[in-house]
Amino acid sequence: MDPSPQNLNPPSPRPVRRRRVLKAALAGVGGACLAGGAGVYFTRRLRHSAADVCEVFKNDAPTGELWRLWQARGWAREAKHYLRLGRNVQCKLCPNDCLLEPGDRGRCRNRVNVDSTLYTLGFADPCSLQIDPIEKKPLYHFLPASRTFSMAVSGCGFRCLNCQNWSISQRKPEEMKDPRGRAFPIRRDSIETMTQDDLDRGTLLPGDAVGLAREARCRSIAYTYTEPTSWFEYMTATAAAARKQSLANVWVTCGYISTAALDELCDNLDAANVDLKSFSDEIYGRLNSGKLQPILDCLVQLKRRGVWTEVTNLVVPTYSDDLEMIRRMCGWLVENLGPDCPLHFSRFHPAHRLKHLPQTPADTLVRARQIALAAGLHYVYVGNLREIDDSHTTFCPSCKKPVVRREGYTILSNDVEGGKCKHCKTPIAGRWT
Ligand code: SF4
Repeated sequence: MDPSPQNLNPPSPRPVRRRRVLKAALAGVGGACLAGGAGVYFTRRLRHSAADVCEVFKNDAPTGELWRLWQARGWAREAKHYLRLGRNVQCKLCPNDCLLEPGDRGRCRNRVNVDSTLYTLGFADPCSLQIDPIEKKPLYHFLPASRTFSMAVSGCGFRCLNCQNWSISQRKPEEMKDPRGRAFPIRRDSIETMTQDDLDRGTLLPGDAVGLAREARCRSIAYTYTEPTSWFEYMTATAAAARKQSLANVWVTCGYISTAALDELCDNLDAANVDLKSFSDEIYGRLNSGKLQPILDCLVQLKRRGVWTEVTNLVVPTYSDDLEMIRRMCGWLVENLGPDCPLHFSRFHPAHRLKHLPQTPADTLVRARQIALAAGLHYVYVGNLREIDDSHTTFCPSCKKPVVRREGYTILSNDVEGGKCKHCKTPIAGRWT
């Protein structure tokens, strides 16, 4: 997951986002919706273990006036990729396979069983909008120096102990949006003229999101910040509308998605950054409440479908900093995705439930990069680290000269011409124009 809007380094347009929790307001219109879910979450969170908090939320679907208003806004839609099992439903969108009785909410907080139908609560109700440099995702080999229109709806099926964006990823849609008052579509000419009220209460239809992106001269839309898989229906509808308007679609993800859902997404997907959080099932369980194999399957499927893919590996001290494990991960990447798949090591900074850990030592990241290069990867970067001068530079794998030099998210020079190194004409992998 790329850094949230508040962590953006370079000057950027004003972020429009909503962080305020609406417990009191929602209690006023909806009754009991939040009480059960907040209780479940809070009780489990105190155990301080990723695995323990990864349960469904019992009897936590919105009811009464809140449900009626949510539907009136157009923020609830019947979900895709699920099974009806009598009165129960099983969501097949991600490998969590949540089995929901009527009134239950899935682990990602975004999907509920109401009257034996699975609904997403995350359609057209973004909690974060931002214009970002594409390098921030990070994507270094995809439309460099272009702007991307970043969108997020709350929700995530993981429980990463180090999540940077927990204030939106670990929230229910009802905690981020307020459905009271007049329903209205957000039809602004520009993100600059949007108001907080637009974001708090307005509905941003897929076509209107594409319009905002085009007006801002973005070349792509990025589904990002939270886990976009949890708001799959909104993401795929927006991606289809974007494709029709010649905008690219970028998925920034943990890669936890079913094969069938990813196949559908890939129909309109141009690029992805997948967070490969470790190369150990045991660590995925402890750190993220997930599993490794589905992420590897996702990466292979993206390659097979021709989606430009870059991989991020956040090196978390005492969790994912084992260099032997990193060596195995790099070997797998070379073997399965090929040497041209860019790998971004990223430095951990204390966050969320791992505030007690130190940041990743620079030496660990330097050695990780050496291991990746020795394994045969051509393009290896290190994020959040100033100690290495060339950690953001793309080198030609043939003549070894720098072809793209970056500082932060800014391109200092670009010697890729027609997809080739200007000096020796070797192809540089990526989508450059
Ligand atoms: S997308 Fe959400 S509801 Fe569906 S299986 Fe995953 S966590 Fe459960």
